[in-house]
Amino acid sequence: MNGAAVRLDPAEIGRTLDELAAIGNRFAGSTGEAAARDYLLDRFRTLGLVDVRLEPFAYLAYEPRAASCALNGAELECHPLQYTATGEAAGEAIYLGDAGEADFERLDAGGVDLAGKVVVVHSMFPFDLVGVLEERAVAGLVHICETPGGIVGNFTGALYPPPLEPPWAGRPTAYPGVTISHPGGRVLLSELSSGGARAAEIRIVHEGALREGIAHNVVGAIAGSEPGQVILSAHYDSQAEGPCVYDNGSGLASLLESARALQSSGRGRTVVVLASAAEEIGVWGASAYVHAHAREMDDVAAMVNLDGIASAYPSQREIWSADAALLELAVATGHAQGWKPDRAMNVRSTFSDHAPFTDAGVPACLIWRPDYPYYHSRGDVRELVDAHAVAQTANVSAALAHRLATDPSALPPRVSTP
Ligand SMILES: [Zn+2]
Repeated sequence: MNGAAVRLDPAEIGRTLDELAAIGNRFAGSTGEAAARDYLLDRFRTLGLVDVRLEPFAYLAYEPRAASCALNGAELECHPLQYTATGEAAGEAIYLGDAGEADFERLDAGGVDLAGKVVVVHSMFPFDLVGVLEERAVAGLVHICETPGGIVGNFTGALYPPPLEPPWAGRPTAYPGVTISHPGGRVLLSELSSGGARAAEIRIVHEGALREGIAHNVVGAIAGSEPGQVILSAHYDSQAEGPCVYDNGSGLASLLESARALQSSGRGRTVVVLASAAEEIGVWGASAYVHAHAREMDDVAAMVNLDGIASAYPSQREIWSADAALLELAVATGHAQGWKPDRAMNVRSTFSDHAPFTDAGVPACLIWRPDYPYYHSRGDVRELVDAHAVAQTANVSAALAHRLATDPSALPPRVSTP
């Protein structure tokens, strides 16, 4: 058995990308999110999936309000860093590099105390810093994003794992935060290093409203004839601006086209088709799904996550899985299709929908092409996503799901979790 059994059509993927781009922004709690949910329900039914339904869950919604960032009195354009504390932080600014272990070691060696300081960080993953920054009692966080063209991207300050019920522990973070642009970061770093005796004084303000809300996963299935299930999943919410066609229009278009292709490729285990909600701001939908279906998790052979599949940019081919056997199978599936991964990462993830499945003991993976420059920004538009590149990459996931559904010996038997 190989990928030839499942063939995704780039034209179908392109059409879905067009339709999702027309719906526009799908930030959790917005009217666009609701429109995307209705669109997916309709597509699931038209595809002939069974048990099509909405699964509601409670989460803590975030509504961006004002943000400001002033350095020695001069304003820098910024966006709120979602789920950080509301209010003001002012004080001496300290540059932390990309806030890796080596950066903290360097600061410690220099006797620099971060307590009460406003830290400035270059990082793709500001949400991974909550623990260390709270421990060190920073006053505030300025996150410099890498988006080209001076665009300020949209990011969350806390992500995974999410609290699933009140009092929503860990939200907001102990400190306020803002995101500034790459050029803004250059200005800031220049001030920091050229001030001489004058310490750089930074003042940030973040306002964002938190309220309890209800979001909905969209769920359907391709009924199987054998026991067990395989879950194929893509999140349908987006970050706060723009049509977010790469993240995650590409995953959604891949999910729908994979569901179509898998329906006509023979029966085995049931394939659950999941369009999850509220991923960008806390992996809430996938975590809620795992929680609601906890007793079924031992029956799930594997979960395949479709998120940020491919764009029009040259980028690395990557496979991420904490499960060595699934990683190996995914790599082999890629090779069989002429899709050779540049990196195969055998690690636990702190981002995206495969994380809660991994933590529930389910072999889970993500096959994607990251390094998209307009990630999480208003620049993530239809013109920058190539349907052929999406189809090629998603075909590896679809073929993997097919293999997992039809070949019970594809993975070693699961040791059931307590
Ligand atoms: Zn995503």
